[in-house]
Amino acid sequence: MKTLVLVEHEGGAIKDATLATVGAAAKLGDVDLLVTGAGVGPVGEAAAKIAGVGTVHVAGGAELEHPLAEAVAPVAVRLMDGYDAFLTASTTTGKNIAPRVAALLDVMQVSDILSVESEDTFTRPIYAGNAIATVRSSDAKKVITVRTTAFEKVAAEGGSGSVQPIEAAVTDGKARFVSAETSKSERPELTSAAIIVSGGRALGSSEQFHSLIDPLADKLGAAVGASRAAVDAGYAPNDYQVGQTGKIVAPQVYVAVGISGAIQHLAGMKDSKTIIAINKDEDAPIFQVADVGLVGDLFKIVPELTEKL
Ligand code: FAD
Repeated sequence: MKTLVLVEHEGGAIKDATLATVGAAAKLGDVDLLVTGAGVGPVGEAAAKIAGVGTVHVAGGAELEHPLAEAVAPVAVRLMDGYDAFLTASTTTGKNIAPRVAALLDVMQVSDILSVESEDTFTRPIYAGNAIATVRSSDAKKVITVRTTAFEKVAAEGGSGSVQPIEAAVTDGKARFVSAETSKSERPELTSAAIIVSGGRALGSSEQFHSLIDPLADKLGAAVGASRAAVDAGYAPNDYQVGQTGKIVAPQVYVAVGISGAIQHLAGMKDSKTIIAINKDEDAPIFQVADVGLVGDLFKIVPELTEKL
C-alpha cells in the first residue's frame, strides 16, 4: 500500500505524534508525508530525514499558515489519487482534518486505531477503552487516525526522503484563522512527557494543587496533568485534563495524586508503563491499575516525597 501521513509541527519542530503515526503507516506499506504551512521549507527538510519515508510533499503559502481543516484537506485530497491510505495522529489537529478528507473522498474514517491487523483491518477502542473493536474497512482508500501511544515512534533521523514542493489548493475562503490562545509552559508537553504527575479533586483548591503537585513535577522533570473533577473545580486548567474527554497519555511513569481512578480517567492513562497512586482510600479503583500504591494522606505524603527527592 502507498500511505500519506500528515506531518504536525510547531515552531519548526516535528511533533512526536507524527513519528508514531509514521510507525503505524509503515505497517501498511510505503510512507510519504505531507507538510503544510507558511515558510515550512526547513520542516520539509527535517521530515525527509524521518526513518523510512519516501517523498515529502511540501505545500506552503499564507493560506496554510495555520492548519485549518478547510485549507489542508483539499491539498491532501488532491494527492490522494496516488495513495491508498491517509493517516493523521489522533490529535486535535488530526481529528479536525481527517474527517474532512474522508468526506471529500466519500469514504468512512477509521478512528483512533490501536493496531494494524492487515491492510484493511484495524483495532480501535470503544466504550472509553473498555472494549476493543476489530473493524474492517472495504473502502478503496482508507482515512485513518492513529492513537499514537499505541505505536512505536520511528527515528526522527536516518531517513533519506526527497522533498517535493506542491501548490496549495485554492480554498473557498469561508473559514479563516482569527486567533489562537495557547498556554505556554516550561514543563514537558503532556502527551509526549516521559513522566506525568496528575492531581485530583482531593487537592481541594487551585492553591493546594499548584503548591503540592508543581514542586513534585519540577523535581521529576514531569508534565502536570489533572482529573476532570480537578479541572471542573478550577484547580487546574482545561488542557491538563487526562482521560476519555481529555488527553490520552502513556508515559513511562504516571503519578496519580488524590485521583479515585474512575473509568473515564483510566481511559486516558492506563497504558502508562508504571503507575504510582497516592490515595487515602485503600479500596480506590486506581489501585487496581497501579504498579505502586501509597495509601495515606497526600497532604503529608507529597511534601515528604518532594523533600526526599
Ligand atoms: P474523586 O472521584 O472525587 O476522587 C478523589 C480521590 O481522592 C478519592 O479516591 C479519595 O479517596 C482521594 N482522597 C481524598 N482526600 C485525600 C487525601 N487527603 N489524601 C489522599 N487521597 C485523598 N474524568 C477524568 O479524569 N477525565 C476525563 O476525561 C473524564 N471524562 C468523563 C467523561 C464523561 C462522559 C463522564 C460522565 C465523566 C468523565 N470524567 C472524567 C469524570 C469521572 O467520572 C470522575 O468523576 C473523575 O475522574 C473523578 O475525579 P477525581 O478522581 O479527581 O475525584
